[in-house]
Amino acid sequence: EEQLEMSKKTGDYLYQLDLESALRYSINHEISLMKSIDGEKMEALHKYLAVLAAYFPLRRHNVYLEIIRDVVEKKNAMTGEEFSQLAKTTEEEMSPVYSGAPRQWIGCKGSTDSYRGYPCGLWTMFHMLTVNFALEHNKSFVTQTFSQDPAAVLRAMHGYIGTFFGCADCAAHFVEMAGTNKIFDVRTKDEAVLWLWRAHNQVNARLSGDDTEDPEHRKIQYPAAKHCPTCRHVNNSWNEEEVLRYLKFKYSYNSIKFDGIS
Ligand code: FAD
Repeated sequence: EEQLEMSKKTGDYLYQLDLESALRYSINHEISLMKSIDGEKMEALHKYLAVLAAYFPLRRHNVYLEIIRDVVEKKNAMTGEEFSQLAKTTEEEMSPVYSGAPRQWIGCKGSTDSYRGYPCGLWTMFHMLTVNFALEHNKSFVTQTFSQDPAAVLRAMHGYIGTFFGCADCAAHFVEMAGTNKIFDVRTKDEAVLWLWRAHNQVNARLSGDDTEDPEHRKIQYPAAKHCPTCRHVNNSWNEEEVLRYLKFKYSYNSIKFDGIS
């Protein structure tokens, strides 16, 4: 028991509860709060739902995301309220979709409620999506429609952040960085995994020492040497091959921990 607590503190793990809490918050609190969804916003929503339906690992083969995707795919416009209703009724019909109570976090738990949580969950979810896309852990044939585009998951993330992410400053920073770092130029799915890793480290560097930093979870250049000793060369520069290997290990479906859920 004590060892488990220790490894939770020092380990670098991927938790199903964090993924589900991020998904639930995104659907019920961000997309649902939009006044109207049409044009580019609707395009962003279509791409996001396509990626989620194909790569989000809901348990028990739940088709919740596929159903929402299929209904929304046929629409050019809807209100956030209509989306919210669709998500609610589908969730009731497909119950149980989620394993824990809302806003529960393990890997993304802050030392107080004002730290971490959803933004951490969203990063985690997108790393998980880029990695399992690269590992070609296709959940269904549907993925064939976009599996030819190595930037498909990044494109969905870019659209989601720019359109729905509630932190407007974060979204503006991210979209600007995406332009500078040429997000859509990635040539392979592995490059997409590394693109997001690099971008996240750039954000970590910018926010290191910021008021928003949880004093018990400092912003580091990830991964920490103790978790991946081979990820840095002796001169401290990145060994990207090893970083990729580490990311593919940490964020793979196979590594997901089911602590804290029924
Ligand atoms: P997070 O940075 O949220 O990271 C979550 C987890 O991902 C970490 O615990 C770690 O396990 C893993 N991780 C960390 N770095 C990497 C990496 N490079 N590659 C792979 N995995 C990694 N906040 C602001 O105040 N200003 C901003 O401009 C801002 N922009 C943001 C943009 C986006 C797109 C997002 C999703 C969030 C943004 N945030 C911003 C929030 C901020 O980045 C953190 O999410 C928040 O401060 C919580 O930090 P955290 O310590 O939980 O770790």
